[in-house]
Amino acid sequence: MKKSLAAAVAALAVVEAAQSTCALVGAETSIDLYTNPQIDYTSEQSEYWSTSCGDLKPSCILMPTTTEEVAAIVSILAANNETFAVKSGGHNPNNHFASIDGGPLISTKNLNQVILDPVTETVRVGPGNRWDEVSAALDGSGYTAVGGRIGNVGVGGYLLGGGLSFMSTEYGWAANSILEYELVMANASVVRVTQSNYPDLFMALKGGGSNFGIVTSYLLQAYPQGDVWGGNLIFDATDDRTTRTRRPASS
Ligand SMILES: Cc1cc2nc3c(=O)[nH]c(=O)nc-3n(C[C@H](O)[C@H](O)[C@H](O)COP(=O)(O)OP(=O)(O)OC[C@H]3O[C@@H](n4cnc5c(N)ncnc54)[C@H](O)[C@@H]3O)c2cc1C
Repeated sequence: MKKSLAAAVAALAVVEAAQSTCALVGAETSIDLYTNPQIDYTSEQSEYWSTSCGDLKPSCILMPTTTEEVAAIVSILAANNETFAVKSGGHNPNNHFASIDGGPLISTKNLNQVILDPVTETVRVGPGNRWDEVSAALDGSGYTAVGGRIGNVGVGGYLLGGGLSFMSTEYGWAANSILEYELVMANASVVRVTQSNYPDLFMALKGGGSNFGIVTSYLLQAYPQGDVWGGNLIFDATDDRTTRTRRPASS
């Protein structure tokens, strides 16, 4: 009797292990997957702005390269209901937003296209980019996009949070310049969300964070941009200048 119970528990453990997202993705798809300990796993975990997020230990890191691969992962998650996290640039400082302990982490790093269309004046960007990569790709094109003030911030979380930019005084929140979201929804279907086809979802995504699905690309309005100069002007504090700036207003 004892033996059969032990066998049943062991069988249950095997079934549970087989149902983990990491195991199923490994068995049923060709999606890249990092596990601990692996150099790629450690390297990916080091790419958080907050080291406390990077100290968490996901059960595996999934590295999809296409929207279809993201949908395949979500389909498995929808069936087994395992807690997971989605990471773009990893700049959110809170544990468990783009980081996770014990469940699968979906890194969007390989969804990193930047495709400019000068005819429609739009640029399609993947959430795996950081803003300095978008800037580098657009450099010399005569166009720019409304993006982060620090280049290391990720495209994915920044655009879903609204996004304040050096260009916001002219064009508003970065989310205001999003024309379309390619989105994998919770039931694993893929939709292209625009103002005209899903107006409520389109509005909700402009600041709604990760609550409505996984965005696999954003179509942004591109804006004409000429040369930009930068640098520092440094003035010596000469006696003459120091004296004059210290002179009382009444003298
Ligand atoms: C040093 C620093 C500078 C900053 N500068 C600015 C600034 O100039 N302007 C500004 O507005 N904000 C700024 N921020 C805030 C920043 O925009 C947010 O922290 C933003 O969430 C970071 O985006 P990320 O992609 O790097 O984040 P992540 O930490 O990767 O993700 C943040 C959230 O978005 C979710 N998410 C990421 N990608 C996707 C996706 N593809 N689909 C669904 N959910 C997703 C994650 O699950 C998580 O909940 C700054 C933050 C730091 C630390």
